[in-house]
Amino acid sequence: MDLTWSEADLAFREEVRAFLDAKLTPELRQAGRLMTSVYADHEASMEWQRILHERGWAAPAWPVKYGGCDWSLTQHYIFSRESQLAGAPSLSPMGIRMVAHALVKFGTDEQKDFFLPRILTGEVFFCQGYSEPEAGSDLAALSMAAVADGDDLVCTGSKIWTTHAREANWMFALVRTSRTQKKQQGITFVLVDMASPGIEIRPLVMTSGEEVQNQVFFDDVRVPKSNVLGEIDDGWTVAKYLLEFERGGGASSPALQVMADEIATVAADQPAPSGGRLIDDAAFSRRLADARIRTEVLEILEYRVLATVAEGKNPGTGASMLKVLATELSQTLTELAMEAAGPRGRVYQPHATFPGGPVAEFAPPPDGYVSGEPWQAVAPLRYFNDRAGSIYAGSNEIQRNILAKAALGL
Ligand SMILES: Cc1cc2nc3c(=O)[nH]c(=O)nc-3n(C[C@H](O)[C@H](O)[C@H](O)COP(=O)(O)OP(=O)(O)OC[C@H]3O[C@@H](n4cnc5c(N)ncnc54)[C@H](O)[C@@H]3O)c2cc1C
Repeated sequence: MDLTWSEADLAFREEVRAFLDAKLTPELRQAGRLMTSVYADHEASMEWQRILHERGWAAPAWPVKYGGCDWSLTQHYIFSRESQLAGAPSLSPMGIRMVAHALVKFGTDEQKDFFLPRILTGEVFFCQGYSEPEAGSDLAALSMAAVADGDDLVCTGSKIWTTHAREANWMFALVRTSRTQKKQQGITFVLVDMASPGIEIRPLVMTSGEEVQNQVFFDDVRVPKSNVLGEIDDGWTVAKYLLEFERGGGASSPALQVMADEIATVAADQPAPSGGRLIDDAAFSRRLADARIRTEVLEILEYRVLATVAEGKNPGTGASMLKVLATELSQTLTELAMEAAGPRGRVYQPHATFPGGPVAEFAPPPDGYVSGEPWQAVAPLRYFNDRAGSIYAGSNEIQRNILAKAALGL
């Protein structure tokens, strides 16, 4: 692993910075800066994807022949880092960063030709249908039935916690096509058109007040067998491959660095309970310094995982390490942010943020009044959303189990 940036890398960094300067409008930057979770406002995110696609940069990690970039590992990292430092809104990961990799590896030519270009343009927007009410950590216990009938699989059951199910027009899902002694067998990976008759979506309201997740009910939904990815009954292979990209496919340390900087700036204006400025409070500044050091460690690890991916391998156990470190660090930072935001950070005012999904039954004040800076309005929503970081994409307890077994041989 080489951490030195060459002249060419530095020139590339300037090219990326110039592009971001020119293309990130104040509205898009605002949408990125005021994100309340890992998801940006849907409209802003799609607009940014369209602009990136025009430049050929919407999916740099894809193989070049499908629209990816012929970049070195360092260039990938520079692009990701500069985008986050500039406050670009995030792109939805489910299509570009997740199912696309599985399509490239397991898809038929017809599937690749149909889905990959449309994922790039945003015409196809995916959600992920893995979890069920009785199958989360123990994903292989999933039971949504898919019964073969002619050229179709007929699906009945439900998926839960489905992020952006209402925005999505396609879902990638795991269904049960047969029952054998080993529960990992008999699972099939399907691509479901969300406009199919028999699908009903009910939003779930999160503690942040946002409606990003949903429960999706399937009642005799017909999925053509041509929409099976991989082999019938062998979807577990596809699912496992894709999960590593979900957990370790990107770089989150730059966004955490930005958050740590913002906390330091705000804490310089905030009184400490013991008197003086919060930033000078020994206990607070020690915790912030510790978080900054851990962010740097995370950055090195992200670089290492990217190096593995750039060699054409999948992220492996590095994905579990990244998932645990990044989410726990982010939770620490959102706790520090709440302290730095002070009393105004306790006020619930989603109208002053860019939520990742609609906010149920919230009437903003008619004059649009905001208590404190928008940053302070974001703090509580981020705090609540971030509690989920150690649960989604496989809980951190499960990641520790994976590391104990696969990395430590315990
Ligand atoms: C905000 C959010 C977004 C999500 N988005 C999606 C999505 O888009 N698509 C999707 O399919 N799913 C999604 N999920 C679901 C997510 O993947 C599951 O919530 C997660 O896998 C945990 O499953 P569970 O909720 O059923 O909890 P459970 O599996 O019931 O776990 C409950 C607790 O027990 C612990 N536990 C369970 N088994 C073990 C074990 N063997 N050893 C140690 N501890 C254990 C867990 O760590 C957890 O703390 C999302 C979840 C959240 C919160």
